[in-house]
Amino acid sequence: MNVDPKAFVANARAALADPQLRPALGRLKTHFGAGRAFAVHRYGDFESLRAAGKAIRDYAVTHLDELLVTFEQSVNARGGTVHWARDAAEARRLILAILQDVGAKTVTKGKSMVTEEIRLNPFLEANGIEPVETDLGEYIIQLRDEPPSHIIAPAFHLSKEQVAETFFAAHKDLDPARSLQERNALVQEARAVLRRRFEAADAGITGANFLSAKEGAAIIVTNEGNGDLTRLLPKTHIVVTGIEKVVADMNDVAVLLRLLPRSATGQAISTYVSVMAGPRGPGETDGPENFHVVLVDNGRSRLIGTEAQDVLRCIRCSACINHCPIYGAIGGHAYGATYMGPIGAALNPGTMGVANAAHHANASTFCGRCAEVCPVMIPLPRIMRHWRAVEYGQGLAPKAITRGLALWAFAAKRPALYRLGASIAARVLKMLGRGGSVRVVPIRNGWFAVRDFPVPQGTTFQQQWRARK
Ligand code: SF4
Repeated sequence: MNVDPKAFVANARAALADPQLRPALGRLKTHFGAGRAFAVHRYGDFESLRAAGKAIRDYAVTHLDELLVTFEQSVNARGGTVHWARDAAEARRLILAILQDVGAKTVTKGKSMVTEEIRLNPFLEANGIEPVETDLGEYIIQLRDEPPSHIIAPAFHLSKEQVAETFFAAHKDLDPARSLQERNALVQEARAVLRRRFEAADAGITGANFLSAKEGAAIIVTNEGNGDLTRLLPKTHIVVTGIEKVVADMNDVAVLLRLLPRSATGQAISTYVSVMAGPRGPGETDGPENFHVVLVDNGRSRLIGTEAQDVLRCIRCSACINHCPIYGAIGGHAYGATYMGPIGAALNPGTMGVANAAHHANASTFCGRCAEVCPVMIPLPRIMRHWRAVEYGQGLAPKAITRGLALWAFAAKRPALYRLGASIAARVLKMLGRGGSVRVVPIRNGWFAVRDFPVPQGTTFQQQWRARK
């Protein structure tokens, strides 16, 4: 796998030929799809909840400037510090400076897609600081030196046998005779190793699902409790998150907390909801001595006021990914980017540049399922279409597409020619058809190698339309 969005097409081909990936991706529907459907059904009026979530996130995106300043003032009032990072490099530098300031050598990390986005781990390692991922999925892929393949289930592409192999290879004191065939055994093994790492950590880094401006709080949801151990045990806690995660107050957070787990895993609520607001206060028995929040822009503010602004409403639930036929066929690694599936296709061209991530917006059947399940009603297909138009307008679209569209536009402006062309094409396809399907067309054999194309039946649509009038 090539970790480069420009390698999408080659990565996708390799993924389609990967027999290990098929059973894993086959679990998407049963694991996430069915869970969400049941949770939505059980909730009742989920559409009203979605509308409320959309309104909250819309208000936040259109008032980011005010809310972020309020958030900073609230964090300062609680004894914490907010740092502003324009891009990935600045975010890495700020985090390193905080860690060096407290002499940290080992850092535990709760799950954070933003730290994946800014490539924090290799940077910390290069500067003599060991990052230890503590979310089970993140821990597994860290041992395998792989990026996440899903935004909430980073090791979704792996079987339990592959995880067992990984633990035997990485945990040097693990008895080779021990059985790791059951999921529980794998969890127990990871828990024993990670417990020691939690106790020895000098600092903890977590992400944030939401930031509450009024209370100066960062909120994370986890199912493993690793977020709490990461933030509470070390003396220094750093929250690293995107600027768009802020909302007005905890009332808004409460609404979004009803949407997020139902859309993500089908749970009514995640096992742990942690509200992180400042360092340990006088008389408190636990919590960090230092509390920092690093707010990362990294291309997000560029989207404000554009056709793609709505994508900033995203709460990273992964519902669009779980229901996407493209992701269901190729998985997450093919994208060569931190965000995959429909959310990646709508976000990446904006934050990474159309020249780098144009393939992502093209990787859609436009079935619209992603927009139907999005808890904050992001019009994902419309945004992908926008990036396709930008790609075309900048002359970045593949030549076969631009020439094909030019030919089609030429014919479409000339109805008589269009009708003649359609009727000739239908006859040629009929002649080439065998057993009800076309399998070979002189210039597009690759297309038909993996698709059934039915032989046109009878007359063209326009001929039928005229006959009915
Ligand atoms: S775009 Fe919508 S469905 Fe997809 S991750 Fe974001 S909030 Fe969830």
